[in-house]
Amino acid sequence: MASEVARHLLFQSHITAKTAHTSSQVSDHEQKQKDSPRSLTMSGHVGFESLPDQLVNRSIQQGFCFNILCVGETGIGKSTLIDTLFNTNFEGHESSHFYPHVRLKAQTYELQESNVRLKLTIVNTVGFGDQINKEESYQPIVDYIDAQFEAYLQEELKIKRSLFNYHDSRVHVCLYFISPTGHSLKTLDLLTMKSLDSKVNIIPVIAKADAISKTELQKFKIKLMSELVSNGVQIYHFPTDDETIAKINASMNGHLPFAVVGSMDEVKVGNKMVKARQYPWGVVQVENENHCDFVKLREMLICTNMEDLRDQTHTRHYELYRRHKLEEMGFMDVGPENQPLSLQETYEAKRHEFYGERQRKEEEMKQLFVQRVKEKEAILKEAERELQAKFEHLKRVHQEEKLRLEEKRRLLEEEIMAFSKKKATSEIYQNQTFMTPGSNLRKDKDRKNSNFM
Ligand code: GDP
Repeated sequence: MASEVARHLLFQSHITAKTAHTSSQVSDHEQKQKDSPRSLTMSGHVGFESLPDQLVNRSIQQGFCFNILCVGETGIGKSTLIDTLFNTNFEGHESSHFYPHVRLKAQTYELQESNVRLKLTIVNTVGFGDQINKEESYQPIVDYIDAQFEAYLQEELKIKRSLFNYHDSRVHVCLYFISPTGHSLKTLDLLTMKSLDSKVNIIPVIAKADAISKTELQKFKIKLMSELVSNGVQIYHFPTDDETIAKINASMNGHLPFAVVGSMDEVKVGNKMVKARQYPWGVVQVENENHCDFVKLREMLICTNMEDLRDQTHTRHYELYRRHKLEEMGFMDVGPENQPLSLQETYEAKRHEFYGERQRKEEEMKQLFVQRVKEKEAILKEAERELQAKFEHLKRVHQEEKLRLEEKRRLLEEEIMAFSKKKATSEIYQNQTFMTPGSNLRKDKDRKNSNFM
């Protein structure tokens, strides 16, 4: 983005100034004049021509970051190609074919060329294409790309942002590795590229291009491109709007997808050591344009279009993600009658809507609460009524029982009284008998007493 501004500024040779108008009653012509800046010619050097240099200096100080996503089956040559592209051995070990899920592994490296520092992140798709369920192969990649956009959006939305030193992990390019089958794209390739093309700049490459003959390769390239077009897969095309690179970019677009060979091995060819793959029948030179498109890829990816890839990521793919996300949250640029809507207005409208909704919910809750209380009250009253009835019944039973017992007691007392009377009478009678002479009676009494015993 910095170089874009620099270029723009370099070609600018005039100064602009806006004139101020105080009257609000202006004609159309005056309005036009007011809106368009006036060109003035300066009579001497001022110094703002150094702006591009200032930008370049600041960018160099800040350093750059570039993030590459490599998508392709295990063993297709992803790591080897990345090593060859950056001419270094990024530590990494061979992946197994038996992972149950696709896992994205991101590794960040600091590289320096002259005084330019590059923070490079390589994201590898470990286990891609090794599962039976192919949907599970591309979904983690989509999720990963979205997660990086989300992290950036969250940083942007913070009150206290630190985008200046934020480690931007958004994926700037996806190198999609296609097997050199010579036939056609696999369903998984189409599905994956289709689900990624609105999120990332895709550069398809035919991997291990030394495994396919020259004539087959040309046919294969044509077939792949027509398949991508007919399936509506949007791949990244090198931009042709900047006239300084338009010609080379246009010609390189015609070579897509690049057929690449990767190798870190050095082989002596003539009197030079070159990166190559050596076979019993000959040597495939990585940097020989007659052997493969490796140099074209490196030129296009690193030397010519790295800044455009970063720019496209921000202005196209991230913008799309951000727009969808903000729309999902209810933010809009225009209202229902197509009138422009500011963020403040949307916020106020949302707040209003939210309060309305909250009040409605509160009212609902209140009503629900009252209804529940009434229901509970009715249940309690019913229980109370039942208890009261039980109590009354028990009280009546108890009363009856009491009456019955009292009656029994009365009868018993009467019986006792009658008995006592009888006893007293008999005692009086006995006493009288003792007083009268004659032993018959006494004998009778003794006999009775012994019977009792
Ligand atoms: P990754 O699993 O996709 O990262 O694959 P690697 O980069 O580890 O490569 C797997 C194997 O393929 C290694 O033995 C490499 O030497 C070999 N390989 C890598 N690039 C090429 C290539 O361009 N052509 C051929 N024939 N073999 C390659």
